[in-house]
Amino acid sequence: MPCERCGASLDRTAAASHECDPERLAEYQMFGMRHEIAGFEKRLRDYLDRAHGRFEVWLAAHHVRRKT
Ligand SMILES: [Zn+2]
Repeated sequence: MPCERCGASLDRTAAASHECDPERLAEYQMFGMRHEIAGFEKRLRDYLDRAHGRFEVWLAAHHVRRKT
């Protein structure tokens, strides 16, 4: 049966004394979260696009106010 935290395959006797290898644990959790990570990167890009758009609007308004 696999360890539910790190995915290592364990037999019943090893399971009780098993301690997850930190490197394997990190890789397994990253693998499990890969869709969320990909989604996060997309949301971050969307956010930055919007933030950039807002800055452009602010900058344009700022220039307009300075001229008047
Ligand atoms: Zn484990």
